[in-house]
Amino acid sequence: MQTHQYDVVIVGAGGAGMRAALESSTRVRTAVISKLFPTRSHTGAAQGGMCAALANVEEDNWEWHTFDTVKGGDYLVDQDAAEVMAKEAIDAVLDLEKMGLPFNRTPEGRIDQRRFGGHTRNHGEAAVRRSCYAADRTGHMILQTLYQQCVKNDVEFFNEFYVLDLLVDHDLATGDVPDGEEVNATGVVAYELATGEIHVFQAKAVVFATGGAGKIYKTTSNAHTLTGDGMALAYRRGIPLEDMEFFQFHPTGLAGLGILLSEAARGEGGILRNSDGERFMERYAPTIKDLAPRDIVARSMANEVREGRGAGPNKDYVLLDLTHLEPAHIDAKLPDITEFARTYLGIEPYTEPVPVYPTAHYAMGGIPTNIEGEVLRNATDVIKGLYAAGEVACVSVHGSNRLGTNSLLDINVFGKRAGKAAAAYAAAAPFVELPPNPATRVEAELETIRTRPDGERVADIRRALQETMDANAQVFRTSESLTQALADIKGLRKRYEAVSVQDKTRTFNTDLLEAVELGFLLDIAETVVVGALNREESRGGHFREDFPDRDDSRFMQHTMAYRRPVAAGAAGTVSGAGAFARAETFDGYQVVLGAKPVTVTRYQPMERKY
Ligand SMILES: Cc1cc2nc3c(=O)[nH]c(=O)nc-3n(C[C@H](O)[C@H](O)[C@H](O)COP(=O)(O)OP(=O)(O)OC[C@H]3O[C@@H](n4cnc5c(N)ncnc54)[C@H](O)[C@@H]3O)c2cc1C
Repeated sequence: MQTHQYDVVIVGAGGAGMRAALESSTRVRTAVISKLFPTRSHTGAAQGGMCAALANVEEDNWEWHTFDTVKGGDYLVDQDAAEVMAKEAIDAVLDLEKMGLPFNRTPEGRIDQRRFGGHTRNHGEAAVRRSCYAADRTGHMILQTLYQQCVKNDVEFFNEFYVLDLLVDHDLATGDVPDGEEVNATGVVAYELATGEIHVFQAKAVVFATGGAGKIYKTTSNAHTLTGDGMALAYRRGIPLEDMEFFQFHPTGLAGLGILLSEAARGEGGILRNSDGERFMERYAPTIKDLAPRDIVARSMANEVREGRGAGPNKDYVLLDLTHLEPAHIDAKLPDITEFARTYLGIEPYTEPVPVYPTAHYAMGGIPTNIEGEVLRNATDVIKGLYAAGEVACVSVHGSNRLGTNSLLDINVFGKRAGKAAAAYAAAAPFVELPPNPATRVEAELETIRTRPDGERVADIRRALQETMDANAQVFRTSESLTQALADIKGLRKRYEAVSVQDKTRTFNTDLLEAVELGFLLDIAETVVVGALNREESRGGHFREDFPDRDDSRFMQHTMAYRRPVAAGAAGTVSGAGAFARAETFDGYQVVLGAKPVTVTRYQPMERKY
C-alpha cells in the first residue's frame, strides 16, 4: 500500500474534473485521479454544443436562458443555481475560446450558435440560437483543450487509478451522526489497474467529478465506464443521492443500438417522422415542434410507436429525416453523427431517413451540492472538504429534465466553482486524521471477489439489471412496472453476493473492476427505482402512467435517498414528511427517503407548454 498527501484530490478527469483542476492546481497541491486516461472520458463523446446567451447571431440574454432551464426542468430546478449557470455561461465559453478551443465561426468571425431543444427567445416565443459548437465534436474539443491546459500547468494525474472508497471522519451510513455535527472528508482509497496496488490519498478537500451512470440501462448513449462510481461511493458512506428517479432518455439514439445522434441534427433542421411520413411533433409541441425538450420528444416518439405508427418491419422506431438538407451543410455541421448512421445502420442520411428511438442518456440526479459545489449530507448541512461537480452532482440546475447543451455548460461553470472553493478551503484548513486502517474495506471487498472460486458471472447479473431497467423504469413507468424492477434488483443483489471473476491475477484485472462497478450499478438502480415508486406524479423525465399529472402540492420537492441500517432511526436525514415518508427494506439495510425544498426565486410554477 502506498500513501500520498495532497491539499486537493479531484476524482475524475472529464470536463468537470479538469476544469476544477485548472482552478485548484494554480493555488494548492492538487492531484487528479482517473480510472480512464483523461482524454477518454465521456465528455469527449459530447457532440452538439455548449450553450450561452452570447447573442452572437440573434437577440438573447441570460435571463431567457435561466427561464428556459427552469421551465425545461419542469420547475424542480433550484433557480438560484440556474441563474448562476446562465450568467456565468458567457465567461465559460469565452474562457474556453481563450484557451484555444476551435469553435465554429459566423462569416464575421464570431463564435457561431445554433438551435437546441427548449432554448427559446423571450420565454417561449420561438427557438433561439444559443448553442456554441465545434461541428458535432464539441465535447471532444472541450476535453482536449482542458487537458492541454492541465498539462501546461503541470497538473499531477494518476491515470487508470480506480477510486473505490471515500474516507470521512464520521460514517453517516451508521445512522447515528446527529444533524449539525461536523463531518469532514479526509481522503480516498484507489486501486492501481496496472499493478493491483492500493493507494491511500489523504486530502484536505476531495472533489468528486466521476460523471454519470447510464449503464444501469441496456439501451444507452453512455460509455461502458459510466457506472455511477462517485454517486455510489457517497451513498455507501451515508450521503444522500438527490432526485435519482429523473433519468433523461435522449430522443435520437440509433434504433436498436442506443448510439447517440445529437439533437444538433434537429437544431440544423432535421425532422422526426412516423411511418406515415407525418411530422408528428407538430401535434405534441405546436410552437417549437422537433425542438421541444427531450422528455417531451422522447415520450411523443414512444407514443407514436405504441399507437402503431412506428416505422420499420417491427414498427418499433421513428425516422429522423435529414434528406431535405444540403449534403454540404450536413458535412460541415454534422460530420460524425452522419458517419455513425452509415457505419452502424448502413443508412445514407443524404438520401434516407435514419431509424431512431429514445436512449438512456443523462442522470439529472446525483450527489447534492450547493452552488459552491459543497456536498450536502441532508437538506442543510455540508460535509467539510467534500465537493462534487458535473454529471455526478445535483446542484440542481437540471431539475427533472435537462436541456440539451446545458451539461457541457454545467461541467465548466460548476467544475470551475468547485475547484476554486476546494482550493480556498484547503489553503486554510488543516489535514484531518485518517481513520485507522483506511484501506481495509476496499482490500477485503476486492480479495473476496477475486479469490471466490466459483459463482455468479458479472455479465449475467449486469444484463439482467439492464433488461429490467429498460423494461420497467424507462420513458413510461407504473407502480406495477417499478415494483417489478425493485423485486428484480433485490434478487440481483442476492446473486451479486456470490459474484466471482475468471481472472484471478493482480495486474490489469478489468474483470475484477467490472465486478466492483456492477455493485455501483446496483446501488444506483435501487435509488432510481425507489425514488420513482415514491413519486406519484409525472414531471420532466419521470412519467407515471398511473399518475399522469404534475402534483406540486405533494411533490414540488427534491427527493433525497439515504442508505441506513434497518433498525436505525433516520438520524442525519431530513425526515420525509408527507409524500416523502418512505423506507424500503433490502437485505441488511434500508433506503430511507427524505425531502429537500426547491429554491424558487423569480419563476412560479406554471403548466409547461411548448
Ligand atoms: C454521447 C453523448 C453526447 C453528449 N452530448 C452533449 C452535448 O452536446 N452537450 C451537452 O451539454 N452535453 C452532452 N452530453 C452530456 C455531457 O457530455 C456529460 O454529461 C458531461 O460531459 C459529463 O462530464 P463529467 O466531467 O461530469 O464526466 P465524464 O466526462 O464522464 O468524466 C468522468 C471521469 O470520472 C472518472 N471516473 C469515474 N469513476 C471513477 C473512479 N471510480 N475512480 C477514478 N475515476 C473515475 C473517469 O475516468 C472520467 O475521467 C453528452 C453525453 C453523451 C454520452
